[in-house]
Parts: sequence; C-alpha cells; structure tokens
Amino acid sequence: MALLNGEQYRESLRKMRPNVYKWGELIADVTAHPATRLHVQSVADSYDAAFDPERSPVFTAQSHLSGQTAHRWNTLLDSVTAVMGNARMKRAQYNRTGTCQGATCAGWTGLNVLWAVTYELDKDLGTGYHERIKKYFQHVEDNGLALAGAITDAKGNRAQKPSEQVNKDANLHVKEVRPDGIVIRGYKAQICGVAACHEIVVLPGSGYGESEKDFCVACAVPRDAAGLTVVETRRPSDARDEEEGWDAPKAGNITQAFLIFDDVFVPNERVFLNGEFKYTGKLIGYFTAIYRAAIGACVAGQGDVMCGAAINMARANGLPQKAFQDKLNQMAINNEVTYAVGLGAMLAGKGHPSGLWIPDMLLAHVNKTQVAKLPYETKVICQDISGGVAETGCFPSYKDCRSPLYGEELMKALAAGADGETRARAARLVEWLTVGGGIPGCMHGGGSPDGARLVVRALEPWEKFAADAARIAGLAAGPAEPAAAKK
Ligand SMILES: Cc1cc2nc3c(=O)[nH]c(=O)nc-3n(C[C@H](O)[C@H](O)[C@H](O)COP(=O)(O)OP(=O)(O)OC[C@H]3O[C@@H](n4cnc5c(N)ncnc54)[C@H](O)[C@@H]3O)c2cc1C
Repeated sequence: MALLNGEQYRESLRKMRPNVYKWGELIADVTAHPATRLHVQSVADSYDAAFDPERSPVFTAQSHLSGQTAHRWNTLLDSVTAVMGNARMKRAQYNRTGTCQGATCAGWTGLNVLWAVTYELDKDLGTGYHERIKKYFQHVEDNGLALAGAITDAKGNRAQKPSEQVNKDANLHVKEVRPDGIVIRGYKAQICGVAACHEIVVLPGSGYGESEKDFCVACAVPRDAAGLTVVETRRPSDARDEEEGWDAPKAGNITQAFLIFDDVFVPNERVFLNGEFKYTGKLIGYFTAIYRAAIGACVAGQGDVMCGAAINMARANGLPQKAFQDKLNQMAINNEVTYAVGLGAMLAGKGHPSGLWIPDMLLAHVNKTQVAKLPYETKVICQDISGGVAETGCFPSYKDCRSPLYGEELMKALAAGADGETRARAARLVEWLTVGGGIPGCMHGGGSPDGARLVVRALEPWEKFAADAARIAGLAAGPAEPAAAKK
C-alpha cells in the first residue's frame, strides 16, 4: 500500500507510542493536540493530494524501485524533472498552508543523499550499506511514511569539535556497537516536523575527520523508538496559535523539536554509516546542494501567500491593490528570484552514478544566501502595506475581542474597509507570516548563510576572473597579488 490518504496517515500516527512533549506535558495524540495538530493537518493534506486528479501530478511520482505511483517524498530524486518536482511540491505546500511541512522534507532529502553516499561506500569499501538503504527505501514506499530529518546537533561550544565538548551528548554519537546493531545517544536540535512523522532519518551534523569517528553515524529511527524523547519547542506566537479563536492560523503550523536520544538501539539493517568519516563531507555536500536549491521554492511559496495577505489587508483597510502595486511587484520579484536560482541550480546539476540528481553546488549555496535575505524584505513590505495592526503586539487577542465588557467596542475600532472580524483575521495572518510561527527558517533553516558564503568563496574561479579581465584590458598578465603584509 504505497499511497495513504490523510485519514489513514492520521490513523497511523495515532498507533504510535506517545513520546512528544510540550509545556512539560506528554502529548497523548499528536493529531488532536493544539501544539501539533495543524502540522499534522497540513501533512495530511499532502497525503490527500495523491487522490486529487489536479494535485496528484505534483504530490506523487513514480517509484524508482517498484515503478508504482508513490508519494513524491517517498521516491528517489533521480532526474532534473524529479528535483524540480520537489520544488513545485514545496511551493504548492506553502501556498496551501503558508508554512513548512518538515515531515515531507529533510528526512526525504536525507534518504536520497544516503542512496548516493552508500553507493560510494559499497563501491569503495564493500560495506553493504547500499543494499540496506534500498530495503529501507522500499519500506518507506510500501508504508507511505513521513520522514523527519535530524542533522543539526545541539553542538555545545561552537568553537570546539564534538570530541572536545564537556558533554559528549551535545552531539549525537555511537555509544556502543553490538553484533546486531548500535546504541546511539545525544541531542539533535531544531528538527522540523517530528511530531508529524513516522520515522527520523539521522545524519551526522557536519563533515568530520578521524578524531570525530564516533559522531559519524547515519541511521533511521522510528519516531517512537524506545529511549527517544521529543520536546516540541516554543513558537513566537504560540499562545495565540493554540487558542481556538478566529485569529489563529487554520491551515498549518510549523513544529520544531529537540530530540533526546537516551541509549537508543538501532538494528544493523537501519544503520547506513558508522565511523566512515571520509564520507561525511560528501554527505553534507549532497544534502545542502539538494536542500538549498529547493528552499528557494519554500520561501517563494510563503511569499506568494504574503502577497495575497498584503492585498487582503490593503482592501480590509479600505485601500485598493493598485495603491501598493509597485511594492507588490517587488514582493513577487523576490519570490521568483529565490525560486529561479533554485531551479537554475537543479538544471545545472548532474547525475550521480547511483542515479541521484545533484543540483549545482555553487548555485544552490548562492540561493541559500538569497533565501536568508530576500524573504525578510518581502516581510517588511507586507507589514508596510498592512499597517501597525499587523505588527507584533498591536493586535488585541481573540478573548479581548469577545469580552462582554469591551469586545463590541474593540470590534468597532478594528473595522475599516471591512468589518472588524475580516480585518482582524487578515491582520493576524500578516503578523503570523512576518513575525510569528509562519516563518519558514529563512535564516538558519537548511544551514546558516555564512556556511553557504564560504562555499561560494571556495567554488568561484577568482584567478580565472582576474585573468579574463586582464586579457580584456589588454594586459599580457594581470597584476600580481601583493605578498601578505608582515606584522
Ligand atoms: C525553521 C528551522 C527549521 C529547521 N529544520 C531543521 C531540520 O528539519 N533538521 C535539522 O537537522 N535541522 C533543522 N534546523 C536547524 C538548522 O539547520 C540550524 O539552525 C542551522 O544549521 C544553524 O545551526 P545552529 O542553529 O546551531 O546555529 P549556530 O551554529 O549556533 O550558528 C549561529 C551563527 O554562528 C556562526 N558560527 C557557528 N559556528 C561557528 C564557528 N565555529 N566559527 C564562526 N562562526 C560560527 C554561524 O555561521 C551563524 O552565523 C532548522 C532550523 C530552523 C530555524
């Protein structure tokens, strides 16, 4: 059964052992709890899309293993069409919900990257990992699984390597190797979509050398594995998001979690890398190339919603769209730039011998730098158009708007080009999109932009640029680089 509908997906989550916490309490049912249900709801919507003739071409793809139609996030990104399909799906998901669907994103990317890295490992070292990932991939497809991806470690002191940390658990590591599997422990941080996933694809947090062998581990862990505790984090707008008022988002909400692995046993068939440190750099390289090409589509999809929210807000304030058309154009340009740089990276990519399509590294990292910049400008314009009522802290709560004492007067005060409730809902969406839980991790999601800048610096052919410029200037040779000044 490769394809699940939304209700079957929800039912499968309900069968799992509760191990997700928030506000110090265990969440008994992630499909119903206010902190998690909207994320589950948006992922369920993506499952339902498989049965909608209009949306299924975006949300499904042909399996490279069985040839069957599968949920797109259960398939190999084996062509430029497939990686562009990832971008299209992400933009469509954001258009539906305004926010991120972690449970169909980073874990899927991790699975794809492991497909390529294990291929290399088997070829070079005869490890047998690729056969394991094939079987695991088939299991994911057969069960229509949603996967979170856990790469980021808690890290500890950023100036020290994992092996130098006072608390070794700051980075997830292999504690013990047994004949039938491994025991892992430590913390992964800021992991998206865990509450809505079935399993977590765990990858090393960075490229490492030999001294960090214990931290070079990739595996797949059920979300409810024994020894794993999931702590949902606080969102900027939690109190309001989780109340039932009409000023709370209706279509989706990002969930982020800290994962505490307290001696979690992983059987051998789910271990895809264990100590092979030389391959961790490649793994991170392939991951960021795929992820940072696609993330331009995420923020573009949210930017589309911001355009719509700004138009609605202008109208609710009593002003026509055309009063802000130049600003709206700039918002749309920002959206299309990140989308297009990502698509460019995909088109300029190349096939890996394993069958994976890897977007161009340079363009993908350039895209990350823009994703960390342009959406913020889009948010500023969205707030600019909307007025102060949509900025942080200016909007009365639902409960206040319903107060028997002053609620009626507040609603009259909120009314403008539209009635108070319409304007309140429109303003609340702008606030959520621009300063609240709707923000899709433009800055650090998919890695910090400084890392991307380092890659751009490393990959651009600076000497060729200087030589070309010298030739065009009519110089036989360009000026020599001055020797570094002695201190
Ligand atoms: C919305 C969102 C969703 C996310 N989803 C996921 C997910 O699903 N899975 C996942 O694995 N991760 C996820 N992350 C985590 C994300 O990948 C990390 O936040 C990101 O890699 C940055 O790591 P950090 O937060 O530890 O920041 P830090 O590493 O603390 O970085 C902070 C700043 O310090 C700089 N810095 C760090 N170390 C050094 C150093 N040694 N020298 C100089 N400068 C340094 C960085 O460049 C950055 O500017 C998500 C994050 C966000 C915000």
